Amino acid sequence: MKFRYIILHIILFISVTSELAFAQVQRYSYEKGMMGSPFVLTFYAKNDTLAKQAADSTFKRIQQLNDSLSDYRDGSEINKLSATSGTGKWVAVSKDLFNILAVAQDFSQKTDGSFDVTLGPVVQVWRRAVRKGYLPDKNEIKEAMEKTGYRKLLLDPETRRVMLTQKGMRLDIGGLGKGFAADEAIKVMESFGITSALIDAGGKLAITNPPPAAKGWKIKVSSGRDSLGTIELANAGVATSGPTYRYLEFEGKKYSHIVDPKTGIGLQYHVRTTVISPNATDADVLATAFSVTGIRNGRKYLKKYYSASRVWLVETRNGKETSWNTIGQKKP
Ligand code: ADP
Ligand code: MG
Repeated sequence: MKFRYIILHIILFISVTSELAFAQVQRYSYEKGMMGSPFVLTFYAKNDTLAKQAADSTFKRIQQLNDSLSDYRDGSEINKLSATSGTGKWVAVSKDLFNILAVAQDFSQKTDGSFDVTLGPVVQVWRRAVRKGYLPDKNEIKEAMEKTGYRKLLLDPETRRVMLTQKGMRLDIGGLGKGFAADEAIKVMESFGITSALIDAGGKLAITNPPPAAKGWKIKVSSGRDSLGTIELANAGVATSGPTYRYLEFEGKKYSHIVDPKTGIGLQYHVRTTVISPNATDADVLATAFSVTGIRNGRKYLKKYYSASRVWLVETRNGKETSWNTIGQKKP
């Protein structure tokens, strides 16, 4: 029996336009490992001092978000909140934590729970299984599943308080954290007067105005095998999700780190989802959510609630690959 937890190549390549910058701004790029992924800030600024200050402040903000939202960190705000589950108490939380949970809950409601930040207990079971090299058994999953369900997470916007109604619940914002961080990074950039930026938060992109003299930031969306070619984007978010990055392989079957909230099992048919939305948070949530809904239900939700977003989803069922592409460019 072989277990592999594999991190494969990132499938989003960013090529930055080489058009000559206007004389008054220069292009800068800073990279740092954050939230378990490389974060790259690419932007145009007037001078080195401003660029450095903006980059430092942005990384500081992402670090602060990670300190509060990471479920990998003992003592993070989110883990402390999870520890209050089942006590019947309303707990006051930071704006960041409240806002991200509010976004998550909105998407959960609209996608019939396909996206679910209360999956923590099940995600933990799968993480442990990957680490120790076994496939979780049915009872283990069932037990963990009993502690999940987005309806057990209550939010009170008036007082910015949260209640987790059942003991043993655990929140996990892994499905939207990087997109959220990318959007927050853009806000910091803007506070420094930087209006042309591309933040790559581990494959989740937040993009503002185009580089000088360009129509947009040139993004190549590709699986390495299949490509949508180069797309020029401005004021948008892009996210890709899929076991192309990370999965558990057990007896020839691949299980995604994206879990179906109805079964508690890692997706088996999903290949890859790329979403382009008005911002990175939405793109990140939808890339995860549409991976779960699959093509058929995905179409329904896209039409009803997310018509501002575009999707490229590939899935394989019974050895047959099906692709859903609303990004509007023909595959070569
Ligand atoms: P990436 O790891 O590339 O950021 P995603 O954005 O798709 O990928 O997020 C996957 C992560 O989200 C998982 O590692 C897990 O923490 C969490 N997760 C898994 N399944 C779901 C789901 N159905 N809804 C919300 N979050 C999920
Ligand atoms: Mg996601």
